[in-house]
Amino acid sequence: MNDVLTPAQRSHCMAQVKGTDTKPEIILRKALWKKGFRYRLHYKLPGRPDFVFVKQRVAIFVDGCFWHGCPIHYSAPQTREQFWKEKLKKNVLRDLAVNDDLKSEQWRVQRVWQHDLKELDKVVNKLVKILNSNDKSYLLEKPYDFQVAEPLAHYGGFNNPSQWWLCDCGSSDVRVLSVNKPGSLNPNAKKRPDSAELICCRCRLKWSIPVG
Ligand SMILES: [Zn+2]
Ligand SMILES: [Zn+2]
Repeated sequence: MNDVLTPAQRSHCMAQVKGTDTKPEIILRKALWKKGFRYRLHYKLPGRPDFVFVKQRVAIFVDGCFWHGCPIHYSAPQTREQFWKEKLKKNVLRDLAVNDDLKSEQWRVQRVWQHDLKELDKVVNKLVKILNSNDKSYLLEKPYDFQVAEPLAHYGGFNNPSQWWLCDCGSSDVRVLSVNKPGSLNPNAKKRPDSAELICCRCRLKWSIPVG
């Protein structure tokens, strides 16, 4: 599997303006519409979710792998290193703050990776389950304080997908916060950074991993 973006793909990716109807998002929402779930677009909520199921109080974001720090596909550009570094960090931290805001208003937030849409059925089934369920127990989870901790969390590496960036809190919802130099975390990439800083979206633990 080689998921590294070619320069052409990357520039295409960067050219897409955030907030417009990107293709993968349309495919997903149409699939859910077919299942009978009626969504609203441009619903006024923190972070402007891509689409929203008002009755079920579910807010959906489709997160692009480049813009939102996908731990498998994020690739730091070769140029304007510092700019992209700050941009990534800002985006990822804003996503987490938006999650908190929505959660505090009793919204169930679902973030779908763009790459997950390659397995559309899986994503649709998962979201249908959530839409059909009244389970709001996760809203009762105590919010964690932002913390910078010792590198306690595991790094399983690419050879063991079940342990990819599994946080000590049990969550695998982990994002790249920064990389120390241009390149991709993907082991097939030609250019790889020496290290990356990851953040757990659930407990906000940050830790560094060697990449090289
Ligand atoms: Zn990805
Ligand atoms: Zn965690």
